[in-house]
Amino acid sequence: MKIYFDHPLDSHTTFGVAARAAQFIRIEDVVDIPAALEIAGGSGKAPYILGGGSNVLITEDLADAVLSIGLRGIETEEHGDEVIVTAAAGENWHELVEVCVERGWGGIENLALIPGSVGAAPVQNIGAYGVELADVLERVEVYDINRGESYSMTPAECYFSYRDSIFKQDRSQSRIITSVSLRLSRTAALNTSYGAIEQELAAIPADKRSFRDVFEAVIRIRRSKLPDPKVIGNAGSFFKNQIVHESLLESLRQDYPDIPLWQVDEDMYKIPAGWLIEYCGLKGLRRGNTGTYEKQALVLVNHGGATGEEIWQFAQYVRRTVKKEFGFQLAWEVNVW
Ligand SMILES: Cc1cc2nc3c(=O)[nH]c(=O)nc-3n(C[C@H](O)[C@H](O)[C@H](O)COP(=O)(O)OP(=O)(O)OC[C@H]3O[C@@H](n4cnc5c(N)ncnc54)[C@H](O)[C@@H]3O)c2cc1C
Repeated sequence: MKIYFDHPLDSHTTFGVAARAAQFIRIEDVVDIPAALEIAGGSGKAPYILGGGSNVLITEDLADAVLSIGLRGIETEEHGDEVIVTAAAGENWHELVEVCVERGWGGIENLALIPGSVGAAPVQNIGAYGVELADVLERVEVYDINRGESYSMTPAECYFSYRDSIFKQDRSQSRIITSVSLRLSRTAALNTSYGAIEQELAAIPADKRSFRDVFEAVIRIRRSKLPDPKVIGNAGSFFKNQIVHESLLESLRQDYPDIPLWQVDEDMYKIPAGWLIEYCGLKGLRRGNTGTYEKQALVLVNHGGATGEEIWQFAQYVRRTVKKEFGFQLAWEVNVW
């Protein structure tokens, strides 16, 4: 365990905004968690739990401690074609996906290139290209701060839904995820129906396609669409897509004939929040050092030197503008500290 005081956080989030933490505690062994919490408890409030910082916007200096999760290690148990892969929370998510693809284990290849740590993956039930973490999750190991003990949680106990879970709902962050177990398979079906994957794989006959082909196609598509946080600060989608009840469809289609809608449930439909923002004329808009990304309005960016507060004010402006036009209050996908 390493402890730093008045620690700069600029390089700890992909937005790259300047902020400081009164205490920054790096945890590299599960057994150090109780001691770290004891130290962090000085301020009387639950610490902030930080992985790769790719889904967090820090708007001010943090008076409470930050626990940086650096737990490492990957274990596997093979049973015939199936494998349970257990990765410690501090492992890099994309590197884990690549290891699994290399070993011929399918199930998470569509989730390639999502930045961040394994431990954060269950928090918002990461998803992309038709696959969500919940589809392959076996169990999550947590350290419960209130109970002072570790235990396993089943997928049902995590209450996963679209970019949401019990962990994201728990504002007091009372559980530290220490490892995540996934059920993968050598014979998993490829999921190529979403976005441009099928198009990317057009040259490969369907019966010759591998997990690696899908993995590489997803990487190519993502690189062409999303800003690389190393080049331009961002946290991916700032807002969630809008879920609406079918009772609204008729009036929406009447007022906005081109509105894209796709069914997610018996009577619920999803509208891409990027489309709503773009419709309001905000795609590529720049305000001071922040704005929306020129290729995807859903992504807010730090053009350089933006403060967290500046980005937060801009995010609220985007939300207000969409509300004025459509009447929807977009939900935040990013965690704002
Ligand atoms: C360019 C870009 C593209 C992205 N694309 C996608 C995408 O396609 N799909 C998608 O779902 N997301 C996407 N994201 C968002 C982000 O990558 C994911 O949410 C990722 O899981 C965050 O991981 P992290 O380690 O960086 O989490 P952090 O940003 O560090 O933390 C996120 C939240 O999880 C909590 N947390 C982190 N670690 C733990 C832990 N061990 N225990 C308990 N709580 C924890 C934090 O307190 C915080 O509330 C994208 C982000 C970027 C920058």
